[in-house]
Amino acid sequence: MKPSNRMLGFFIFLFALSACAADDYRPTSLPDSALRTPPALTYAYRDWLQYESKHFLFHCDPKSPLAGRIRGHADMYDKIFEEISQVLGVQLNEKIRVYLYASHEAFSRESGESLYVGRVSRRLMEIHESPFVPPGHEMAHLLADHIGPVYPEYPLLTEGLAVYFEGSDRQKKLHGIAKDYLLRKELTSLEPLKDRFRDLKPAMTYPVAGSFVKYLIDTYGLEKFKELWVSGLELERAFSKVYGKSFRRVGQEWMEMLKNPSTVPSF
Ligand SMILES: [Zn+2]
Repeated sequence: MKPSNRMLGFFIFLFALSACAADDYRPTSLPDSALRTPPALTYAYRDWLQYESKHFLFHCDPKSPLAGRIRGHADMYDKIFEEISQVLGVQLNEKIRVYLYASHEAFSRESGESLYVGRVSRRLMEIHESPFVPPGHEMAHLLADHIGPVYPEYPLLTEGLAVYFEGSDRQKKLHGIAKDYLLRKELTSLEPLKDRFRDLKPAMTYPVAGSFVKYLIDTYGLEKFKELWVSGLELERAFSKVYGKSFRRVGQEWMEMLKNPSTVPSF
């Protein structure tokens, strides 16, 4: 090989190494598309207001209703971040960038996410949100990605955990909401949420998943839940391994708990 070819080979080798490093985020079951900020998000953020808090770098559209109160908003985010981080036992080495849009329409237009009010780019450590979304939701997704090397591919678990931590009004009454779906017979088992979560209506799936995750953590403890989270197994096998019971059996126990009027009042 001539010297010039050796140099070229060396640069190709370096390029290959850097490409690996870029893709070597951590093993995860999420598709790559979920890890990259889509091209639509190459938006002119430079005119946005900026504020740095203990755990976040905020970028706020000056037209956002939050523009005049970023500091208070940031304090709330820091507080919730520390709660989730402590409970999950997760530390981050860098601050999370949070992009606060002027409106839900602006968020949808720029992100291409018409169905959602926020999105998280785990790879880039970024959160993009419409105004007034539950503050802990996307944050919980991001922190939970650092529980271990695997991010489960079941929204029943991932969305359930995000709702469990989201800091919203519905977070305080997850079992009550789930119970009402049960009593109205709109929910007869957890199987559809395991297999077809994204095809069902979010008004039902999100709080019900939150209720189920809350039940798992309250009943069997957070450490078991984290074992389930990082098992990397299909859910039926993961439940048998971690809880020594089938997914169906644990789902039935959760329903029994919901039906008990002394533990969960309906509303
Ligand atoms: Zn979510």
